[in-house]
Amino acid sequence: MKKIAILGSTGSIGTQTLEVVEYNQDIQVTALAAGSNIKLLEEQIRRFHPALVCVWDEKKARELATAVADLDVKVTSGMEGLLEVATEPQAEIVVTAIVGMIGIRPTIAAMEAGKDIALANKETLVTAGHIIMPLAREKQVRILPVDSEHSAIFQSLNGEDYKKIHKILLTASGGPFRGWTRERLEGVQVEDALKHPNWSMGRKITIDSSTMVNKGLEVMEARWLFGVEMDQVQVVVQPQSVIHSMVEFEDGAVIAQLGTPDMKLPIQYALYYPERRDLPGDRLDFAKLKQITFEAPDMDVFWGLKLAYEAGTRGGTLPTVYNAANEYAVDKFLKKEISYLKIIDMIEGAMIHHEVKENPNVEQILAAEQEAYDYIESRW
Ligand code: NAD
Ligand code: MG
Repeated sequence: MKKIAILGSTGSIGTQTLEVVEYNQDIQVTALAAGSNIKLLEEQIRRFHPALVCVWDEKKARELATAVADLDVKVTSGMEGLLEVATEPQAEIVVTAIVGMIGIRPTIAAMEAGKDIALANKETLVTAGHIIMPLAREKQVRILPVDSEHSAIFQSLNGEDYKKIHKILLTASGGPFRGWTRERLEGVQVEDALKHPNWSMGRKITIDSSTMVNKGLEVMEARWLFGVEMDQVQVVVQPQSVIHSMVEFEDGAVIAQLGTPDMKLPIQYALYYPERRDLPGDRLDFAKLKQITFEAPDMDVFWGLKLAYEAGTRGGTLPTVYNAANEYAVDKFLKKEISYLKIIDMIEGAMIHHEVKENPNVEQILAAEQEAYDYIESRW
């Protein structure tokens, strides 16, 4: 039996991870953490019998403890609880399916406790990649990518020497507003931005996909995971979401991973790596598909992607400011407090205002996050 803990079990990645667990029957879930959806968490506890759970919200945690008083499960809350779940002694792999920079501390704690990380929480790598990657080497733990593009790159690199990577070709669907002008984007409403053409995901990442900030975060995620420079990661728009990403090697060979858009594949691949297992689901039918098309991303309209290259190339605390400003702005947009294009204005404004600190430690990263929030709050 493989033993895992899941941070963010009630979300899109978390619930699909549990579907993979259910299908395989040889994984034991030892700990779960979620934000506030205690109804679903209770169902998960009754089905998977973890020894430990955490609910971020303290009041909800108390409610849950009462609801599951008949079971042998410990209920915790807050950051202390998250760290406890991340370091639950039995778990070998921690799935980081929590959304946002809140994932940094639990991910580091899990690694320090010797756990392998099945990493979905890209915000952690974007802001603290310079801490996470060396720590993984020091603690000899694996960072197994769950993000579909990074899993595709990881699969394309099987048996290859990472030093021979010439370029990473990171594919993007282009989102629901591909081909639009900036003027047309001005009127975008929350409901429009939540309609992704190919993938069904959590709300924050769906908005990020529509602005292409998600792709920007993924470029930075790829640079850390595969040890390349920012300018070695090239975004290729491929609207059908069939090619999940590619690697071009020094000799010009390009290796790609293709498939239908289904996050269960990268999740299962991360949990069982290097073993490949059966997975039910749709298969690619090339006769039906007929064509796969490519375009360059429009970085003038989707300038959030351009800003990501600037943030990643400059480095230090700037990727944190990029990410924090985006998290803050997306939250405001989802609450209908700001217009769509304000999201990118806020990122740009916070980046211009910020004084970059080199090689920040976790405290400095969290301080830069707070500074970005405070600046946006005072400025808008
Ligand atoms: P989601 O919003 O559907 O789920 C987030 C989960 O985190 C929920 O279970 C929520 O309860 C939990 N959570 C949030 N704040 C918390 C807190 N403070 N304490 C404890 N739990 C908390 O998000 P998602 O789409 O599953 O995405 C999760 C992460 O995976 C993100 O970083 C996202 O970028 C990444 N990712 C998602 C997909 C996808 O297909 N959904 C693909 C690639 C990468
Ligand atoms: Mg992705």
